[in-house]
Amino acid sequence: MGLIRLLPRSGGASRAAGSIHDAATEPDAVDGAPEAVDGGPEAVDRAGEAVALSEPARDPEPAAVASAATSADAASVATPADAAGVDAGPAQYTATTTHVIVLANQKGGVAKTTTTLNLGVALREMGYRVLLIDLDPQGNLTMSQGLNPDVIERSMFDVLVHKVPISDVIEQREADLAVASIDLAGAELALSAMIGRERSLEKALVEVRSSYDYVLVDTPPSLGLLTINAFVAATGVIVPVQCEYLSLRGLVQLENTLAMVRENLNPNVGVEGIVATMFDGRTLHSREAIEILEENFGDLVYRTRIRKTVRYAEAPVKGSSVLKYDPTGAAAEAYRELAREIVAAKEAEDGAQARKHA
Ligand code: ADP
Ligand code: MG
Repeated sequence: MGLIRLLPRSGGASRAAGSIHDAATEPDAVDGAPEAVDGGPEAVDRAGEAVALSEPARDPEPAAVASAATSADAASVATPADAAGVDAGPAQYTATTTHVIVLANQKGGVAKTTTTLNLGVALREMGYRVLLIDLDPQGNLTMSQGLNPDVIERSMFDVLVHKVPISDVIEQREADLAVASIDLAGAELALSAMIGRERSLEKALVEVRSSYDYVLVDTPPSLGLLTINAFVAATGVIVPVQCEYLSLRGLVQLENTLAMVRENLNPNVGVEGIVATMFDGRTLHSREAIEILEENFGDLVYRTRIRKTVRYAEAPVKGSSVLKYDPTGAAAEAYRELAREIVAAKEAEDGAQARKHA
C-alpha cells in the first residue's frame, strides 16, 4: 500500500486533502531520491500550504486563497481576481465520454512528448478517435510528425489567444494534431492579461470535443499558464517519470498545483496514472526507482514500463511515431500495452460511474 496517494483513479477531489500532508511528513518515503532529500523543510512548508488549499471547495477560506497567492508556484493560478470571483465561468458542454488526458511533468526530458505521440497512435490503432494537442512552444510534438513549427502560420497560440477555432490548426497526421508554433512562447504573457485566461483551452475544445474519444495534451516543462490551461480542460493527468532520475519533490510540487486547480478551476482533475519511462531493468537504479514509485503511489503506477531504447529518439527524426517507424518492435509494443492498460482503467471507471447512476 502506498504511503502517498495523489488521487485515486476513481476518487473525488476531496481525497486529495491528506495526501500532500503524507508526502511531506513521511521523509523516509523519499530515501534514495537525492533531490527529494534536501527538499525536507520546504516540503513541510508546502504541506501547510496544501492542506490550507484543500479546504472544501464550497466555501474557500480567504486565508487559503491568500496563501496560494503568495506562493511563487501559485502566482499564475490563484490571484486576487480569482479570489474576487472574477472568472469567465466554466465552458458549457454536455457530458460525453471524451477523455482529455494531459501529459505533464514540469521536468523536461521525461518523455512527455514521446508518450503523447506514441500513446495517441496506439489508441488510434485500437480504433479510437484521437486528437493530439501540442501546447509546448518548443513544438517537439509538431516536429515529431514532420511539421516545422517555425513556418506554421496558425497554431495553438492563435487558438488560445485569438480564439481561432481549434479545427483550423488541426493537421491530419498519424492522429489528428493541433500544432504548435514558435509564437506559443508568447502565449503565457498574452494570456496573463486576459479574463478567463485559465479556461482558454477548455473553451476551444468545446467545438471538437464530441469528435474525439481521446484528446492527449502535451505540455511544456513548467507549471505556467499553458499547463494550467491543460489542467483546467483535463479529465485526468498522466505523469511520465524518468527512472534514471526520479524527482519525488517534483511530483509533490505538481500535485500542489493540481490541488490549487481543483480548488479554483476544475474540481475533477487529478493524477490518474504515473508512467515509468526510460526504464533499464539491468540497473539497480531503475529497479529502485520503480520500488520507490510503487511504495509511494501504489496502483497509480502503471504496470507497463517504457524501457530505455534509442528507437524512441530515432522515430521522430523520421517524422513518425515508433509504432510506424518500427511497428513490430518492443518499443512500439510497450506503448500499445500502456494504451490497453489505460483503456481498461477507463472502462472500469466508466462502468463504476454507470452503475452509480443506474
Ligand atoms: P519531454 O517531452 O518530457 O521533454 P521527450 O519525450 O522529448 O521528453 O523525451 C526526451 C528525450 O528522450 C527525447 O530525445 C526522446 O527521444 C528520448 N526518449 C523518450 N523516451 C525514451 C525512452 N523510453 N528511452 C530512451 N530515450 C527516450
Ligand atoms: Mg516535450
